[in-house]
Amino acid sequence: MAEFKLIDLIRARATQARDDVVLGIGDDAALLQPPPGMQLVVAMDTLNDGVHFPPGTDPAHVGWKALAVNLSDLAAMAAEPAWCTLSLSLPDGDPAWVAGFLDGFLALASLYDVALVGGDTTRGPLSISVTVHGFVDPGRALRRDGARVGDGVWVSGTLGGAAAALGQWRAGETIAPALRERLERPRPRIALGRALAGVANACIDISDGVLADLGHVCVASGVAVRLEVDALPGREALRPHLGDDAARMLQASGGDDYELCFTAPGDADATVRAAADAAETGVEVTRVGTVVAGQGVQALDRDGRSWLPARKGHEHFVP
Ligand code: ADP
Ligand code: MG
Repeated sequence: MAEFKLIDLIRARATQARDDVVLGIGDDAALLQPPPGMQLVVAMDTLNDGVHFPPGTDPAHVGWKALAVNLSDLAAMAAEPAWCTLSLSLPDGDPAWVAGFLDGFLALASLYDVALVGGDTTRGPLSISVTVHGFVDPGRALRRDGARVGDGVWVSGTLGGAAAALGQWRAGETIAPALRERLERPRPRIALGRALAGVANACIDISDGVLADLGHVCVASGVAVRLEVDALPGREALRPHLGDDAARMLQASGGDDYELCFTAPGDADATVRAAADAAETGVEVTRVGTVVAGQGVQALDRDGRSWLPARKGHEHFVP
């Protein structure tokens, strides 16, 4: 299908109405009205065929995930999502693929009241880039550089499920449904992130594995973290599929979970739990470590012995 027909198809389905969209898809650019006094929070993420998802993945899952990974970045900043733009590079302009993609993408957009306000449609290798825009009260954004010595380290939800699903796919095994859901339909922790503003000191979303992502917090904050790897939530869901060592490895270093990892003052555990409860997401938060003086993440097993992963986490361009 030709470019303009595809854009018409997208425009006809991008019907999420927001008062702050003065002009959406159709002109040279979108016209948007940010709320007075708020800071604009902007994030972008790309999914490439064969790199971020297996070739032949259901386009609805690709669409969901393309937006989910972006909303997850807004969640980690404690932002309220508002708008997004979508760049589609398509090998052959297949309208059925685009329709399926929009099923997933727009389902998630409508859950969070996000309006698709523009984009670009080109021919090339299958690749999807999304930009999301959200708002946060000035000074309330959660950043990577706010962790303080003495903070508790927390994660939301469960870890390792998405990486376990990817492992089963790579091994040519049938992917267990619960794990598949974790890989294909990650839930951005928007409500939790917003509830943590004013409670957490630092926050990051877990895209590359908690060890790697916590490492970024350590560098940005100039601190170290003692992480209890056996306290990472979600081990039970992996047990039917993996031995304890392999499960621990995936929980610490497997990517794609899109949970939040945050730090909060060491004496604020009750406040953290109350904030998570108030967000009413049904997502548990678990304390998994402590911020200490020094550099880097030190992982400890349940006996307090230092634990070293074979691989720290996902990084592009690293063989
Ligand atoms: P221009 O040539 O001025 O950049 P385009 O022909 O690329 O305009 O796009 C026309 C309109 O359609 C613009 O408003 C653009 O934002 C929108 N658009 C194009 N591709 C997409 C897409 N994949 N998703 C959403 N909007 C799109
Ligand atoms: Mg264009």
